[in-house]
Amino acid sequence: MSLFSIKMRASQKERHISGAERILPETKLPAAVQHLTERALHHSLGKPDYIQVKVEEIEPASLQYYPALPVSSIMANTVEEGKKALITLLEKEGIVHGASLLTLLEKRAPMRGAILYDLATHTCQEPDKERGVRVTYMDSLAPRPEAEKCHFQEALILATKTAHAPGMIGEICISDDPDYVTGYYASLTQGYVRISPLKEHGASLGGRIFIFDSRLAEVETVCTYLEKQPVCITDMALPPKKDPLFYIEEELAQLKKDNLYRTTQVLSAPQTTHVYRNGKEMLLLSSNTYLDLANHPKVKEASANAVLSFGTSSGGSRLTTGTQPIHEELEQALAAFKHTEGALVFNTGYMTNLGTISALSDEDTLVFSDEYNHASIIDGCRLGKGKTVVYRHLDMKDLEKKLKEHPCKKGIIVSDAVFSMDGDILDLPMFVRLGKEYKMLTMVDEAHSTGVLGKTGHGITEHFHYTCQPDILMGTLSKALGSEGGFICSSLPILSYLKNKARSFIFATAPAPSTLAAALSSLHVLQEEPQRVQALQENIRFFCRALHNEGIEAHSETAIIPILIGDEKKAVAIAAQLQNEGLLIPPIRYPTVPLGTARLRVALMATHTQEELTYAAKAIGKAIQTY
Ligand code: PMP
Repeated sequence: MSLFSIKMRASQKERHISGAERILPETKLPAAVQHLTERALHHSLGKPDYIQVKVEEIEPASLQYYPALPVSSIMANTVEEGKKALITLLEKEGIVHGASLLTLLEKRAPMRGAILYDLATHTCQEPDKERGVRVTYMDSLAPRPEAEKCHFQEALILATKTAHAPGMIGEICISDDPDYVTGYYASLTQGYVRISPLKEHGASLGGRIFIFDSRLAEVETVCTYLEKQPVCITDMALPPKKDPLFYIEEELAQLKKDNLYRTTQVLSAPQTTHVYRNGKEMLLLSSNTYLDLANHPKVKEASANAVLSFGTSSGGSRLTTGTQPIHEELEQALAAFKHTEGALVFNTGYMTNLGTISALSDEDTLVFSDEYNHASIIDGCRLGKGKTVVYRHLDMKDLEKKLKEHPCKKGIIVSDAVFSMDGDILDLPMFVRLGKEYKMLTMVDEAHSTGVLGKTGHGITEHFHYTCQPDILMGTLSKALGSEGGFICSSLPILSYLKNKARSFIFATAPAPSTLAAALSSLHVLQEEPQRVQALQENIRFFCRALHNEGIEAHSETAIIPILIGDEKKAVAIAAQLQNEGLLIPPIRYPTVPLGTARLRVALMATHTQEELTYAAKAIGKAIQTY
C-alpha cells in the first residue's frame, strides 16, 4: 500500500497563519487534502493569501513507529513556580543550567523552528540560525478531527518523534499563543510533562529548545532525523481534561477584570417611584413601569381577585388545559387597543420574540434586523432556520440597499419601535412602505412604545397618526402595563400560524391568571386615565431640559433617556455615586450595549415629580463632573 505525506502551510502577506501535516494511505488522500485546505481557509488568525498543500509519496518500510510519550501535568500557582518545576525536571536529566536555557529561549524568540542546543559544547548548533531546526514527516494512527487543530495531540506527536532523535536528551517548549500559558518538557526518561503556567497570559513569547549531546550523535544525524525521518505514533492520549468548573471560574474572573461582572440587587417595596435598597429609600429612575401601574390599587385588586377566583397557576400549556377566560379576555382587549384582528399572549416579551421570529423564519426566509434590536429579537433570529441580514441602526436607506442586495423567496423586516437602550423611534411609515414594496412581513416590537407613544399611549401607530400599520405588532405586558408577559397583535392567519408553530407558546405553561388580570386592569386604567400618558410625556420634556441646564446632552421623545458615559468603569463609578445620593440608575454595559458605550439609562415614570427630576438632573451633572 502506498503511503503519502501531506503538508499544508498557509500564510497571509508572508505571515505564517496555519500549518499541519499527515501521513496517510492513498485512499484517504483526497479527503485529507480537502480538510487541510478548509482548515487553512478558516483560521482564527485570518484568511490566507497563500496556501501550499504538498503531497509526497514515502517508502512504507522507512516509517518508524513509536508509542506516544506518557503524559503528566504539573499545575503551578505562578509562572515563577512553573519555571522552577521545569528547572527541577532538567536537573533530573543532569542539566544544571536550566535557568540560562530559559533566558536563551526568550532571547531567540520568535523563531519558527527550534534551537538545537549541544550539551557537550554549550553551543547552539541549528544549521539555520534564523529558522531553527524543524520537525516534519510525522503523524499518529489515532483518529483526529481533520478540520480542527488539536494542539495537544500535535504537540505530543512532535515531542515523541523528537525524544527518539539520536543523541536527544530532552525538549523544552513554550507556546507562542498569547492565550496558551501551558508549556512542556519532554524526554524519553520523563515523558511529556505539561507545566502550567510557564508564561503570563497575553505574552506572545514562545519557542522550543532541543537539548542534545554531540558526544552521542552528530548534528547532521540529529537534523536529518528531525527533518526527514517519517515517524508514526501508534497510540495517543486524549487531551487532559480540566475540572469543568475551571472554565466557569476563568470566565467570571475575566468579566470582573473587564468591569462587566453583574449581580442582582434586591429592591424591597413595590416597583414605583420610591423603593428601598438595603433599608435606604431611593428614587427609582430606571424602571420600565412607565405609567407606574404595577402598584396601582385597581391593578393590584384585579390581580388579587384573579387569584381568589382562578387560583395561582394556569396549570397547563395554552393548547392543552391552560387557557382560562382571562387569557382570551386580555387577548380581545389587546387586539381592540392595537386595532388588529386578534392577539396572542405569551409568558414574557422575550419568549414572544423568540417564538414568533423563529416560527416565521424557515430555510427560505431572510430576516432583516436593525443592528440595535433587542436581544430577544436577535435570539429569535438565531433560533430560526433562515438567515439574518443586519442593517444599520434606524437607517432606512441601508435597509433598502440590503433588501435590494438580498433577494429572497420570503422575508421579514423586524425592528424595535422604541430602542430599549437609546430611546429613539423607528421611522414606521418608511419601514412599512419598504415592507410593502419588497413584499416582506413587517414586525415591530412595541415593548417601550405601548403606553408611552401617541397622545393616548396606543403606541407607535398612534404616534404616526395611524397612517401605517405593520403586519405584526409585538408588545410586552411587563413595562407600561405593569405586569409581565408578552403579546402579538396581528391578523387571524398569522395568529393561527403562531399558535401552531411558535414553540415558546406551545411548550410553556400558560401565564398565571393573576398576571394577566393585572395587565388587563392596567389596560383599562390606561384608557380611563390618558392623562397618565400626557404626564409621562411632560416629564420627558421637563427632564431633558433639566439635564441641558446641567450641561448634559440628552434627547428623547420616549421614557428612555440615555446619558452616554462611554467607559465601563467610569459608568459604574458614576452610578455608585448617584446611589449614595439616593438615586437608582444602574449603569448599562456590554453586552447590553456595544463595548465602550456604557451609559446611564434613565427611565421615567408618569408619577415622578418635577422636584424629583430637578434633584436627579443636578446630582447626575455633579457625578459626571466628578469623574
Ligand atoms: N423587547 C424589548 C425591546 C425589550 O426591551 C424587552 C425587555 N427589556 C423585551 C422585548 C422582553 O420583554 P420581557 O421583559 O417582557 O421578557
